[in-house]
Amino acid sequence: MTDECKVKIKEIFTSVQGEGPYVGYKQLFIRFCNCNLKCNYCDTDFKDDNYEEFDTERLLERINRYSNYHSISLTGGEPLLSVDFLKTFLPRTGKKIYLETNATLADKFREVKPFIDIVSADIKLESATGIKDSYKFHDKFFANCKGVETFAKIVFNKNIKDEEIEICCDLGSRHGVELILQPEMQNDLMIVTPEFAEEILDKFLQHYSNVRLIPQVHKFLNLK
Ligand code: SF4
Repeated sequence: MTDECKVKIKEIFTSVQGEGPYVGYKQLFIRFCNCNLKCNYCDTDFKDDNYEEFDTERLLERINRYSNYHSISLTGGEPLLSVDFLKTFLPRTGKKIYLETNATLADKFREVKPFIDIVSADIKLESATGIKDSYKFHDKFFANCKGVETFAKIVFNKNIKDEEIEICCDLGSRHGVELILQPEMQNDLMIVTPEFAEEILDKFLQHYSNVRLIPQVHKFLNLK
């Protein structure tokens, strides 16, 4: 067994999907370590001593302990950083695969695309994440998603700019993906008012019709 065939996993658990159009579905979450970005609002624990290492056989054995869920959610961190592992693991799960990704690693996505059923891809706003110019990575990523069910998740706060709204709508319409607006949360509260969130939805709708406003529901349910 080579190192390439092992992966560091932060946690494995079942819960209810709390974001986007699949909200309310029970999923088996596999949380990967590490990320190539550093978003201002990130709440993932990246401490290096807090993980378990798996090879494919052991992870398959672990997930086989769970049943009665809609799909496996690959989450993070950024799961696509573990693409070598995913190429051997995913074809053997026999389950529907839901990928949560920051949508910046288009080439790595291509390597596992045949095994992915649903893509939840972030569009990173500089006003919320502090990350500049992520759009050029998103453009290539969404182009590579063609043929796989894909939606885009946009976390925003009161600093969102009109120019960012236009760029998001342009990305959404060019690649035919639904945009899900998700107000940034602090603990279990939205950090913008409901009125502001609706105003932002209306601004998006002036440019593109395939847009919905969906807050993080698992926080209201007090679930992971
Ligand atoms: S992409 Fe996700 S996991 Fe990575 S830093 Fe941003 S919020 Fe955290």
